[in-house]
Amino acid sequence: MAYRPKGPPLSKAEMRAHAEKAIAAATKPITKLPTKLVRQCGRCGESSAVMVEPGDPTPPFQCKHCDGPTRRTRKAPESPQD
Ligand SMILES: [Zn+2]
Repeated sequence: MAYRPKGPPLSKAEMRAHAEKAIAAATKPITKLPTKLVRQCGRCGESSAVMVEPGDPTPPFQCKHCDGPTRRTRKAPESPQD
């Protein structure tokens, strides 16, 4: 049997300190987050969500139904026919 020298074992407190350090590094506070802005269209009632970057002005409302690029001709998500 080979003799394996062991280093000093980590105490529970030390292991926890390591874990907490790792968690703190992984979940460092993020101060600037884009804001999700949900508004409802006054014409069709569809709500539209936009992401507003911090510091950016609120973009004008755009309804994906009334203002957005429309008419997707080939779209049939509910019919399984091919
Ligand atoms: Zn609309």
